[in-house]
Amino acid sequence: MTALFDDRPFREASHRNGFSGNRIARWSEGRDDSSLERALAAPSSRLYLFAGDKVVLRQQDAIPSSVGHIAPSDAALLEAMGADADSVGGRLLPLWTLAEAADQGLDPDTVVLLGVRAGEAVLAGTVPPREERPPHETAIDLRSLAVQEALPPDDMGALAQARSLLLWHAANRFCARCGGPMRMKNGGSSRVCTVCNTEVFPRVDPVVIMLAVDGDRCLMGRQPQFDAGRYSALAGFLEPGETIEDAVRREIKEESGITVGRVRYHSSQVWPFPSSLMIGCHAEALSTEVVRDAAELEDCRWFEREEVAQMLAGTHPEGLTVPPRMAIAWTLIDAFAGREG
Ligand SMILES: [Zn+2]
Repeated sequence: MTALFDDRPFREASHRNGFSGNRIARWSEGRDDSSLERALAAPSSRLYLFAGDKVVLRQQDAIPSSVGHIAPSDAALLEAMGADADSVGGRLLPLWTLAEAADQGLDPDTVVLLGVRAGEAVLAGTVPPREERPPHETAIDLRSLAVQEALPPDDMGALAQARSLLLWHAANRFCARCGGPMRMKNGGSSRVCTVCNTEVFPRVDPVVIMLAVDGDRCLMGRQPQFDAGRYSALAGFLEPGETIEDAVRREIKEESGITVGRVRYHSSQVWPFPSSLMIGCHAEALSTEVVRDAAELEDCRWFEREEVAQMLAGTHPEGLTVPPRMAIAWTLIDAFAGREG
C-alpha cells in the first residue's frame, strides 16, 4: 500500500467524532512479557502521564528553542500563513521521556505499553497529583481537552486508549474467579491470575446513542445535569442479549414513549469515561406523542430542522444548544440537519 492511500479510508463518519484519531499500532500479536521492559529501556520511548483524573501536559512556550520553541519570528511567519500565533505559542505537549516521567514520580506498577507509533514505543502511566506545578506545566482532564480541541487527534485517541487501559488495570487487581492477585501480562494487553491462571482482557462497554427522526423533526432530550439550554440525542447502555437495533428501539421507547421502526447505524465514538464505545444511529419514528421518563429527562421534545440548525450554529433565539463538536451527538444532529459531508 502506498502513502497515497494512507492506512485507512479518507472519509469515515466516525473520524468526525472526538478521540477517533488513534494511530498507535497495538502490536498485540508480537508482544510478550519482556515487551514492556524493552520499551522502558529504549531512550526513544515516550509516555502519556495521568495524575489522578488529569493529563499532565507541558506548555510549548516554556520549552527551550532546541526542542521546539516557537520563536517570535516563527510566530510571525505562522501568522502570515494564516495560523493563530497565540494558539501555536500556547500549544500543549502531552508526551514525556522516561527520565521526565521518573521526575514526575511515575508509578512503575501502573505503566502499560500502548503500542508503537512512528517507530517509537508509546506508553502510559500514572504520577501523583500535585497541588502546584511549575509555570510550564499543567494538568487538565481529558474531557475538557476534547471539548477545547486542545490536542491533535492522534494524541486524543492515544490518551483515550491510555485512560481506559490504566483504569481497567487499576480496577482488576484481583481475580473474579478465585480472588487471587492478578498480574499484568504482555505489557498490559491482559491480566492473568497468579493462583488459578485465569486470563482477562480489557473490556469495552457498548452504549447506543440515537436520534429519532420524524420527517423534518428530530427528538432530543435534556438531563437535569446538562448545561442550561442544552439538548442532546438519547442514549443508554446495551443490555445482554440485545442487538444494537433492539437497544435503540428500547431506549427511545423507555425515555420518550416514542415507537421506532428502522434503525440506521451512522458512526461510533470511543468514550473513555471509563471505557465505552458510543454507537450512533438514526431511527425512524413510527409514533409522535412524547411520554417523557421524568426520572431520566427534564425535558424531551421534537425539534424542527430549522431550529436544530440554529442550535448547531449557536444562533438559537432562546439560547438553546447542542453538545460540543467533539461529541458523537453533535455529529448525529449535524447529519440530520443536512450539513453532513
Ligand atoms: Zn484466580
